[in-house]
Amino acid sequence: MPVAPERIVGQDLIDIYRKVDAGQRLSFEDGMRLYQTPNLTGVGYMANLVRERRHGKKTYFVANQHINYTNICNKFCKFCSFYAKKGGPEPYEMSLDTVRERLSWHRDVDITEVHMVGGINPRLPYQYYLDLIKTVKEVRPGVHVKAFTAVEITEIARQGKCTVEQALADLIEAGLDSLPGGGIEILSDRVHQELFGKKLNGDEWKEVARAAAKLGLRQYATMLYGHIETLEERVSHLIQLRELQDETQNFLTMTPLAFHPEKTELEHIATPTGDMDLRGIAVTRLMLDNFEHVKSFWIMNTAPITQQALWYGADDADGFVHEYEITYNEGDFGNKKQVLTRSNMVKLIEEVDRIPIERDSLYEEIKREPKKPLIPLAVG
Ligand code: SF4
Repeated sequence: MPVAPERIVGQDLIDIYRKVDAGQRLSFEDGMRLYQTPNLTGVGYMANLVRERRHGKKTYFVANQHINYTNICNKFCKFCSFYAKKGGPEPYEMSLDTVRERLSWHRDVDITEVHMVGGINPRLPYQYYLDLIKTVKEVRPGVHVKAFTAVEITEIARQGKCTVEQALADLIEAGLDSLPGGGIEILSDRVHQELFGKKLNGDEWKEVARAAAKLGLRQYATMLYGHIETLEERVSHLIQLRELQDETQNFLTMTPLAFHPEKTELEHIATPTGDMDLRGIAVTRLMLDNFEHVKSFWIMNTAPITQQALWYGADDADGFVHEYEITYNEGDFGNKKQVLTRSNMVKLIEEVDRIPIERDSLYEEIKREPKKPLIPLAVG
């Protein structure tokens, strides 16, 4: 006999459950209670109701490759382990030939998306960014290029001595298909000042988002949690994103990203727990009633947590991912390549009784005929 929802969510959350059941918007106070209640199962149960209402058992994934084109950066964010520094990672910037070579490493994989972000490297000229995108499109014709956070976009505009709108228009003409989100971490002036004061602030980040929306350039959103932010700041971040989505209708997906303190200036902070990861996914699903998709990024919160997250509100498990270098550095796991094959990803999803759906970057379903590449490589 099915268990009554009231028995799962308990008396303390029953009013929120009724709102969720009726499809009503949750308030700031509701968000705070979802973060504070010890009843994680109840929060997850409600998030799963919303997830299944939208997507049933479907779980999306994408065949993608990440390219982090430079780790030279002049922003010195305290939470970042990626940028080159004394005693840390060696500096690099990829030539276009290196990018070509990186793409050719996976010539046998039917990749549909190339995801590129990097540091804020003042040595790279405007033309480099345009050529970077053109190179990807030349090597992998038809691939979707998701590239550059809002911080990079403002730097590119600065290099081009032009407006953000003009830079975006030029990048779109070169082949840019969407913006990956990121760059603001959490929309809080306090955290901005304390952790990443040299980067753009929340208002500037929103202006880039609005400019992208005006040009029809789809984008994604993220939230970095588990550092110095308060619960109030997490909920405020979600509500600010919700308001921006009401205004622009331009965000495809929201991805809560777990902070990893290893090799950062915040090494004294504990790594996020499974509770934080699952709750982060579930509260995001419940608060962002105008976002179609919530993603669990397995690289940051591990494959096992991602499997559980598919029952806590997430309907997307990201992609295979190749050479992701933002979070971990060589030596952490003996190998910096963090890769799943297509069959690994399908297994990860099916093991928890969800239905894997390969998608493109705009969530169109991809039907594959076995052994027939979708996008042939134009190199070698
Ligand atoms: S998070 Fe980005 S902008 Fe900040 S230091 Fe790292 S690479 Fe630079």
